[in-house]
Amino acid sequence: MEISAQVLAWYDGHRRHLPWRAAPGTTADPYHVWLSEIMLQQTTVATVKSYFERFLKFWPEVKDLAAAPLDDVLHAWQGLGYYARARNLHKCAKVIAADYDGDFPKSESDLLTLPGIGPYTAAAIAAIAFGQKATPVDGNIERVMARLNAITEPLPKAKPILKKLATQFTPDARAGDYAQALMDIGATICTPKSPNCDICPLMAECRAAATDQVENLPQRETKKPKPTRRGTVFWLINSKSEILLRRRPDKGLLGGMIEVPSSSWLEGENAGTKFTDEAPILTDWEALPGIVRHTFTHFHLELAVVVGRCSAKDMAAGIWCGATEFDKHALPTVMKKVVAHAIKHTH
Ligand code: SF4
Repeated sequence: MEISAQVLAWYDGHRRHLPWRAAPGTTADPYHVWLSEIMLQQTTVATVKSYFERFLKFWPEVKDLAAAPLDDVLHAWQGLGYYARARNLHKCAKVIAADYDGDFPKSESDLLTLPGIGPYTAAAIAAIAFGQKATPVDGNIERVMARLNAITEPLPKAKPILKKLATQFTPDARAGDYAQALMDIGATICTPKSPNCDICPLMAECRAAATDQVENLPQRETKKPKPTRRGTVFWLINSKSEILLRRRPDKGLLGGMIEVPSSSWLEGENAGTKFTDEAPILTDWEALPGIVRHTFTHFHLELAVVVGRCSAKDMAAGIWCGATEFDKHALPTVMKKVVAHAIKHTH
């Protein structure tokens, strides 16, 4: 039996039941496929399930999402991280509502022109929602392909080879099921550690299993250690006991999110120590004990927190937030940590 026939037969009996998937024999809703795929980038299936269901409750159709204020979308996205994805999600919904009358385009090339949709997501929507012969290749599929074919070239260099192999095996019909089957095999059987080869539908064809290389594949280039950036956060309290917040610029890290103002985040032992130039007002800033730590994709962050007070006359411009009102704002996780830390040390 061909590889695709084997994985499809396995899928018919063992597929995972996920809230964004269509029932067997029916076609998935492109809005559901798109929403779930954007959420699943860098996030686990277990986490995404509840976010996906909440988004559909708030915005049952892509046009509803397009009509929602960006702040509401960012707020609902809190906890999923990578807020550029949420901003692009909203932008993409607007384009689909305005330029496509709420219907996703069907071809991979048209999908690729939409905000936040890269080659993987375009292929996933084309294959899963529209039955086109396209091959989305995620980390699960890369692992299965690397082992099935005993590819020793390390990731990420091996990506094009693995994509080519997954594409070669893609059937003319049921390309979406084929991709989802491989994702499921990767997530439930061909797992990174201790894969369960005994129940794998690909066992007879698997070169890694035959040559006892399963645990060593896929290989990865050793990563450089992440640098550490440092900065100082300004916890400014006004005479009504409100705290100063501000919106970050739309572009860049945590774009458009609300934050407690801080100095620039820079590398180096002394970064963040000469902070007064960047403070929202001139006042006696008093350091709180401890450090707030957070890790982003490309760097670790250490933030010192300083407290200042201001009267009505020298109040800085921004958003003033009552001590119990932080939940009303789209604060990224790092800023939630800052708020918790500052509240703990100022009460
Ligand atoms: Fe992965 Fe084992 Fe299946 Fe090969 S036989 S694809 S290593 S689970």
